[in-house]
Amino acid sequence: NITNGSTGGHKIKVVCRVRPFLPTEYPDDSVKVESSHVLRVSNYRDPEKDICYNFDSCYGPEADQQTIYDNDVRFLVQNIFHALDTTVFCYGVTGAGKTHTIQGSDDDPGIIPRALQQILDQTRLRQDISYEVTMSYYQIYKEAVFDLLCSSSSTSDCGSAQSSMGLPIREDANRNIFIAGLVEQPIASYSDFAAIYGAACKQRKTASTRLNQHSSRSHAILTINVQWTDSARSKSMRGRLHLIDLAGSEDNRRTDNSGRDRMAESSAINKSLFVLGQVVEALNTGAHRVPYRDSKMTRVLQHSLGGKSVGMMIVNVAPGERFLQDTHNTLNFATKSRDI
Ligand code: ADP
Ligand code: MG
Repeated sequence: NITNGSTGGHKIKVVCRVRPFLPTEYPDDSVKVESSHVLRVSNYRDPEKDICYNFDSCYGPEADQQTIYDNDVRFLVQNIFHALDTTVFCYGVTGAGKTHTIQGSDDDPGIIPRALQQILDQTRLRQDISYEVTMSYYQIYKEAVFDLLCSSSSTSDCGSAQSSMGLPIREDANRNIFIAGLVEQPIASYSDFAAIYGAACKQRKTASTRLNQHSSRSHAILTINVQWTDSARSKSMRGRLHLIDLAGSEDNRRTDNSGRDRMAESSAINKSLFVLGQVVEALNTGAHRVPYRDSKMTRVLQHSLGGKSVGMMIVNVAPGERFLQDTHNTLNFATKSRDI
Protein backbone atom coordinates (compact mmCIF):
# COMPACT_ATOMS: atom_id res chain seq x y z
CA ASN A 1 0.00 0.00 0.00
CA ILE A 2 1.31 3.35 -1.02
CA THR A 3 0.46 6.40 1.04
CA ASN A 4 0.62 10.01 -0.04
CA GLY A 5 -1.49 9.69 -3.16
CA SER A 6 -0.37 10.25 -6.68
CA THR A 7 2.36 12.38 -8.13
CA GLY A 8 1.87 15.13 -10.65
CA GLY A 9 0.20 18.48 -10.53
CA HIS A 10 1.85 19.61 -7.31
CA LYS A 11 3.31 23.05 -7.09
CA ILE A 12 5.73 21.97 -4.41
CA LYS A 13 7.74 18.92 -5.25
CA VAL A 14 8.65 16.56 -2.48
CA VAL A 15 11.88 14.72 -2.98
CA CYS A 16 13.36 12.17 -0.61
CA ARG A 17 17.07 11.53 -0.09
CA VAL A 18 18.33 8.68 2.06
CA ARG A 19 21.94 9.15 3.09
CA PRO A 20 24.40 6.26 3.27
CA PHE A 21 25.22 4.59 6.56
CA LEU A 22 28.15 6.32 8.23
CA PRO A 23 31.25 4.31 9.15
CA THR A 24 30.14 4.51 12.78
CA GLU A 25 26.72 2.99 12.09
CA TYR A 26 25.65 -0.62 11.89
CA PRO A 27 23.77 -1.12 8.59
CA ASP A 28 20.32 -2.68 8.44
CA ASP A 29 17.57 -2.68 5.83
CA SER A 30 14.78 -0.87 7.65
CA VAL A 31 14.70 1.80 4.94
CA LYS A 32 14.78 0.82 1.27
CA VAL A 33 14.46 2.83 -1.90
CA GLU A 34 12.00 0.71 -3.83
CA SER A 35 12.00 2.74 -7.03
CA SER A 36 12.80 6.25 -8.20
CA HIS A 37 9.54 7.35 -6.54
CA VAL A 38 8.92 5.01 -3.62
CA LEU A 39 10.54 4.55 -0.23
CA ARG A 40 9.73 1.42 1.79
CA VAL A 41 10.10 1.79 5.56
CA SER A 42 9.75 -0.90 8.22
CA ASN A 43 6.80 -0.39 10.48
CA TYR A 44 7.96 -0.56 14.09
CA ARG A 45 4.39 -0.99 15.29
CA ASP A 46 3.55 -3.82 12.94
CA PRO A 47 6.65 -5.53 11.55
CA GLU A 48 4.47 -7.48 9.11
CA LYS A 49 3.49 -4.33 7.30
CA ASP A 50 6.09 -2.06 5.78
CA ILE A 51 4.87 1.41 4.89
CA CYS A 52 5.61 2.84 1.45
CA TYR A 53 5.87 6.56 0.85
CA ASN A 54 5.53 8.06 -2.58
CA PHE A 55 7.63 11.02 -3.79
CA ASP A 56 8.23 13.01 -6.93
CA SER A 57 11.74 11.59 -6.71
CA CYS A 58 13.36 9.26 -4.26
CA TYR A 59 17.14 8.94 -3.98
CA GLY A 60 19.16 6.29 -2.21
CA PRO A 61 22.65 6.42 -0.72
CA GLU A 62 24.33 6.07 -4.11
CA ALA A 63 22.85 9.28 -5.52
CA ASP A 64 25.44 12.02 -5.78
CA GLN A 65 25.04 15.80 -5.52
CA GLN A 66 25.32 16.31 -9.28
CA THR A 67 22.55 13.81 -10.07
CA ILE A 68 20.11 15.35 -7.61
CA TYR A 69 20.91 18.84 -8.84
CA ASP A 70 20.52 17.98 -12.51
CA ASN A 71 17.33 15.96 -12.05
CA ASP A 72 15.41 18.11 -9.61
CA VAL A 73 17.00 21.45 -8.85
CA ARG A 74 18.39 22.93 -12.06
CA PHE A 75 15.05 23.72 -13.72
CA LEU A 76 13.66 25.15 -10.47
CA VAL A 77 16.55 27.58 -10.20
CA GLN A 78 15.81 28.66 -13.77
CA ASN A 79 12.48 30.07 -12.50
CA ILE A 80 14.35 33.05 -11.16
CA PHE A 81 14.70 34.27 -14.76
CA HIS A 82 10.94 34.04 -15.19
CA ALA A 83 10.65 36.46 -12.26
CA LEU A 84 9.26 33.76 -9.97
CA ASP A 85 10.07 33.17 -6.32
CA THR A 86 11.39 29.72 -5.61
CA THR A 87 12.10 28.04 -2.29
CA VAL A 88 14.02 24.84 -1.60
CA PHE A 89 13.83 23.44 1.93
CA CYS A 90 15.84 20.61 3.44
CA TYR A 91 13.83 18.95 6.17
CA GLY A 92 14.82 16.13 8.49
CA VAL A 93 16.32 15.16 11.83
CA THR A 94 19.80 16.25 12.85
CA GLY A 95 22.28 13.98 11.12
CA ALA A 96 19.99 13.11 8.20
CA GLY A 97 22.05 15.03 5.62
CA LYS A 98 20.36 18.45 5.29
CA THR A 99 23.55 20.48 5.41
CA HIS A 100 25.32 17.99 3.16
CA THR A 101 22.53 18.37 0.61
CA ILE A 102 22.04 22.14 0.61
CA GLN A 103 25.55 23.32 1.43
CA GLY A 104 27.85 20.34 0.93
CA SER A 105 31.58 20.65 1.35
CA ASP A 106 34.45 22.00 -0.74
CA ASP A 107 35.06 18.52 -2.13
CA ASP A 108 31.42 17.72 -2.64
CA PRO A 109 29.45 20.94 -3.18
CA GLY A 110 25.73 20.92 -2.55
CA ILE A 111 22.83 22.92 -3.95
CA ILE A 112 23.89 26.43 -2.90
CA PRO A 113 27.21 26.66 -4.75
CA ARG A 114 25.75 24.87 -7.77
CA ALA A 115 22.78 27.24 -7.91
CA LEU A 116 25.07 30.26 -7.75
CA GLN A 117 27.15 28.89 -10.59
CA GLN A 118 24.05 28.28 -12.69
CA ILE A 119 22.63 31.74 -12.02
CA LEU A 120 25.89 33.53 -12.79
CA ASP A 121 26.36 31.48 -15.97
CA GLN A 122 22.84 32.36 -17.06
CA THR A 123 23.32 36.08 -16.47
CA ARG A 124 26.30 35.96 -18.84
CA LEU A 125 24.31 34.41 -21.66
CA ARG A 126 22.41 37.62 -22.30
CA GLN A 127 24.62 40.48 -23.36
CA ASP A 128 21.57 42.69 -23.89
CA ILE A 129 20.36 42.46 -20.31
CA SER A 130 22.27 43.66 -17.30
CA TYR A 131 21.45 41.54 -14.31
CA GLU A 132 22.13 42.53 -10.75
CA VAL A 133 22.69 39.58 -8.42
CA THR A 134 22.71 39.98 -4.64
CA MET A 135 22.62 37.55 -1.77
CA SER A 136 21.66 37.57 1.87
CA TYR A 137 22.21 34.84 4.40
CA TYR A 138 20.76 34.69 7.88
CA GLN A 139 19.71 32.39 10.65
CA ILE A 140 16.48 32.21 12.55
CA TYR A 141 17.03 30.96 16.05
CA LYS A 142 14.38 31.08 18.76
CA GLU A 143 12.30 33.40 16.59
CA ALA A 144 15.09 35.95 16.15
CA VAL A 145 16.86 36.82 12.91
CA PHE A 146 20.68 36.90 12.85
CA ASP A 147 22.68 38.06 9.85
CA LEU A 148 25.42 35.71 8.69
CA LEU A 149 27.02 38.14 6.23
CA CYS A 150 29.68 40.62 7.18
CA SER A 151 30.83 43.27 4.79
CA SER A 152 33.41 41.49 2.65
CA SER A 153 36.20 43.74 3.95
CA SER A 154 35.51 42.93 7.56
CA THR A 155 37.26 39.98 9.11
CA SER A 156 35.89 40.47 12.60
CA ASP A 157 32.74 38.66 13.52
CA CYS A 158 29.89 40.91 12.50
CA GLY A 159 27.51 38.88 14.61
CA SER A 160 28.65 40.54 17.80
CA ALA A 161 27.35 43.86 16.47
CA GLN A 162 23.85 42.45 16.39
CA SER A 163 21.81 42.56 19.52
CA SER A 164 20.70 39.27 20.95
CA MET A 165 17.21 40.34 19.92
CA GLY A 166 18.16 39.95 16.29
CA LEU A 167 17.02 42.05 13.35
CA PRO A 168 13.43 43.33 13.07
CA ILE A 169 11.02 42.23 10.34
CA ARG A 170 9.18 45.12 8.72
CA GLU A 171 6.66 45.78 5.99
CA ASP A 172 7.11 48.60 3.47
CA ALA A 173 4.44 50.81 1.87
CA ASN A 174 3.95 48.23 -0.90
CA ARG A 175 3.37 45.54 1.68
CA ASN A 176 6.69 43.89 0.91
CA ILE A 177 8.11 42.17 3.93
CA PHE A 178 11.80 42.71 4.64
CA ILE A 179 14.37 42.27 7.36
CA ALA A 180 15.57 45.71 8.43
CA GLY A 181 19.34 46.09 8.35
CA LEU A 182 20.03 42.77 6.68
CA VAL A 183 23.17 42.84 4.52
CA GLU A 184 22.48 42.37 0.83
CA GLN A 185 25.77 41.58 -0.78
CA PRO A 186 26.26 42.21 -4.52
CA ILE A 187 27.67 39.16 -6.30
CA ALA A 188 29.56 39.92 -9.51
CA SER A 189 31.43 36.65 -9.91
CA TYR A 190 31.66 33.17 -8.54
CA SER A 191 34.82 34.02 -6.63
CA ASP A 192 32.91 36.92 -5.00
CA PHE A 193 30.33 34.45 -3.88
CA ALA A 194 32.81 31.80 -2.72
CA ALA A 195 34.65 34.28 -0.47
CA ILE A 196 31.48 35.69 1.07
CA TYR A 197 29.77 32.36 1.46
CA GLY A 198 32.84 30.65 2.90
CA ALA A 199 33.14 33.37 5.55
CA ALA A 200 29.42 33.17 6.28
CA CYS A 201 29.53 29.42 6.82
CA LYS A 202 32.29 29.97 9.37
CA GLN A 203 30.23 32.74 10.90
CA ARG A 204 27.34 30.29 11.21
CA LYS A 205 29.52 27.97 13.22
CA THR A 206 31.00 30.59 15.55
CA ALA A 207 27.63 32.29 16.04
CA SER A 208 26.20 29.02 17.25
CA THR A 209 29.04 28.62 19.72
CA ARG A 210 28.84 32.17 21.00
CA LEU A 211 25.12 32.08 21.55
CA ASN A 212 25.48 28.65 23.06
CA GLN A 213 22.99 27.32 20.59
CA HIS A 214 23.00 24.25 18.47
CA SER A 215 23.03 25.01 14.78
CA SER A 216 20.62 22.10 14.57
CA ARG A 217 18.05 24.31 16.32
CA SER A 218 18.30 27.16 13.85
CA HIS A 219 17.16 27.66 10.28
CA ALA A 220 19.76 28.96 7.82
CA ILE A 221 18.22 30.89 4.93
CA LEU A 222 20.24 31.93 1.92
CA THR A 223 18.42 34.19 -0.52
CA ILE A 224 19.58 35.03 -4.03
CA ASN A 225 17.99 38.07 -5.63
CA VAL A 226 18.26 38.70 -9.36
CA GLN A 227 17.06 42.01 -10.76
CA TRP A 228 17.01 43.25 -14.32
CA THR A 229 15.15 45.54 -16.66
CA ASP A 230 12.97 44.08 -19.35
CA SER A 231 13.80 46.55 -22.12
CA ALA A 232 10.86 45.53 -24.34
CA ARG A 233 8.45 46.49 -21.58
CA SER A 234 10.88 48.83 -19.84
CA LYS A 235 9.83 47.16 -16.68
CA SER A 236 11.90 46.23 -13.67
CA MET A 237 11.89 42.48 -13.02
CA ARG A 238 12.98 40.39 -10.08
CA GLY A 239 13.30 36.74 -9.18
CA ARG A 240 14.24 35.28 -5.82
CA LEU A 241 15.57 31.94 -4.71
CA HIS A 242 15.55 30.84 -1.07
CA LEU A 243 17.73 27.87 -0.13
CA ILE A 244 16.93 26.75 3.39
CA ASP A 245 18.67 24.40 5.80
CA LEU A 246 15.86 23.86 8.31
CA ALA A 247 16.37 23.17 11.99
CA GLY A 248 16.41 19.52 12.99
CA SER A 249 12.86 18.23 13.00
CA GLU A 250 13.34 16.02 16.07
CA ASP A 251 12.38 18.73 18.54
CA ASN A 252 9.06 19.40 16.99
CA ARG A 253 7.32 16.12 17.01
CA ARG A 254 5.81 13.89 19.57
CA THR A 255 4.01 10.64 19.31
CA ASP A 256 0.99 10.43 21.55
CA ASN A 257 0.02 7.23 23.32
CA SER A 258 -2.42 6.19 20.62
CA GLY A 259 0.70 5.92 18.49
CA ARG A 260 -0.46 8.68 16.21
CA ASP A 261 2.09 11.20 15.25
CA ARG A 262 1.16 14.79 15.94
CA MET A 263 2.66 18.11 16.72
CA ALA A 264 1.87 19.65 20.03
CA GLU A 265 2.49 23.35 20.15
CA SER A 266 3.60 23.17 23.75
CA SER A 267 6.40 20.87 22.68
CA ALA A 268 7.35 22.98 19.70
CA ILE A 269 10.74 24.22 20.77
CA ASN A 270 11.06 25.57 17.31
CA LYS A 271 8.08 27.69 16.48
CA SER A 272 9.07 28.49 12.91
CA LEU A 273 9.29 24.80 12.03
CA PHE A 274 5.96 24.12 13.70
CA VAL A 275 4.24 26.97 11.88
CA LEU A 276 5.84 25.98 8.57
CA GLY A 277 4.04 22.65 8.95
CA GLN A 278 0.77 24.49 9.58
CA VAL A 279 1.29 26.84 6.64
CA VAL A 280 2.00 23.93 4.32
CA GLU A 281 -1.07 22.11 5.57
CA ALA A 282 -3.27 25.20 5.20
CA LEU A 283 -2.05 25.71 1.63
CA ASN A 284 -2.63 22.02 0.91
CA THR A 285 -6.17 21.99 2.13
CA GLY A 286 -7.05 25.38 0.69
CA ALA A 287 -7.77 26.70 4.18
CA HIS A 288 -9.08 30.23 4.34
CA ARG A 289 -6.51 31.34 6.89
CA VAL A 290 -2.85 30.59 6.27
CA PRO A 291 -0.93 31.41 9.46
CA TYR A 292 2.06 33.12 7.83
CA ARG A 293 2.24 35.70 10.57
CA ASP A 294 2.56 33.16 13.35
CA SER A 295 6.31 32.66 12.98
CA LYS A 296 9.30 34.66 11.79
CA MET A 297 10.30 32.27 9.03
CA THR A 298 6.86 31.97 7.47
CA ARG A 299 6.41 35.73 7.76
CA VAL A 300 9.64 36.41 5.89
CA LEU A 301 8.76 33.82 3.25
CA GLN A 302 5.09 34.78 3.01
CA HIS A 303 5.32 36.13 -0.55
CA SER A 304 7.50 33.25 -1.66
CA LEU A 305 5.11 30.50 -0.58
CA GLY A 306 1.76 29.97 -2.23
CA GLY A 307 0.64 32.31 -4.99
CA LYS A 308 2.64 32.07 -8.18
CA SER A 309 5.74 30.82 -6.45
CA VAL A 310 7.24 27.36 -6.71
CA GLY A 311 8.98 25.23 -4.18
CA MET A 312 10.57 21.98 -3.28
CA MET A 313 10.94 20.12 -0.02
CA ILE A 314 13.87 17.76 0.16
CA VAL A 315 13.19 15.25 2.85
CA ASN A 316 16.47 13.97 4.25
CA VAL A 317 16.34 10.54 5.83
CA ALA A 318 18.94 8.80 7.97
CA PRO A 319 18.81 5.05 7.39
CA GLY A 320 18.64 2.48 10.14
CA GLU A 321 16.40 1.27 12.88
CA ARG A 322 17.71 3.81 15.36
CA PHE A 323 15.97 6.57 13.38
CA LEU A 324 12.84 4.65 12.50
CA GLN A 325 10.34 6.64 14.48
CA ASP A 326 11.90 9.94 13.39
CA THR A 327 11.80 8.67 9.83
CA HIS A 328 8.06 8.01 9.97
CA ASN A 329 7.49 11.41 11.58
CA THR A 330 9.57 13.08 8.89
CA LEU A 331 7.75 11.29 6.10
CA ASN A 332 4.34 12.10 7.54
CA PHE A 333 5.31 15.77 7.61
CA ALA A 334 6.35 15.40 3.98
CA THR A 335 2.88 14.12 3.15
CA LYS A 336 1.52 17.45 4.28
CA SER A 337 4.04 19.25 2.13
CA ARG A 338 2.36 18.07 -1.04
CA ASP A 339 -0.09 20.06 -3.11
CA ILE A 340 0.96 23.61 -2.20
P1 ADP B 1 22.16 17.47 9.11
O1 ADP B 1 22.57 18.77 8.52
O2 ADP B 1 20.81 17.02 8.63
O3 ADP B 1 22.25 17.45 10.61
P2 ADP B 1 24.59 16.51 7.89
O4 ADP B 1 24.43 17.06 6.53
O5 ADP B 1 25.51 17.23 8.81
O6 ADP B 1 23.17 16.33 8.59
O7 ADP B 1 25.01 14.98 7.73
C1 ADP B 1 25.37 14.17 8.82
C2 ADP B 1 26.61 13.36 8.44
O8 ADP B 1 26.32 12.49 7.35
C3 ADP B 1 27.77 14.23 7.98
O9 ADP B 1 28.96 13.63 8.42
C4 ADP B 1 27.65 14.18 6.47
O10 ADP B 1 28.90 14.39 5.85
C5 ADP B 1 27.14 12.77 6.23
N1 ADP B 1 26.29 12.69 5.04
C6 ADP B 1 25.05 13.18 4.91
N2 ADP B 1 24.52 12.92 3.70
C7 ADP B 1 25.46 12.25 3.03
C8 ADP B 1 25.54 11.67 1.72
N3 ADP B 1 24.51 11.75 0.85
N4 ADP B 1 26.68 11.04 1.36
C9 ADP B 1 27.70 10.94 2.23
N5 ADP B 1 27.71 11.43 3.48
C10 ADP B 1 26.61 12.09 3.88
MG1 MG C 1 23.08 20.50 9.53
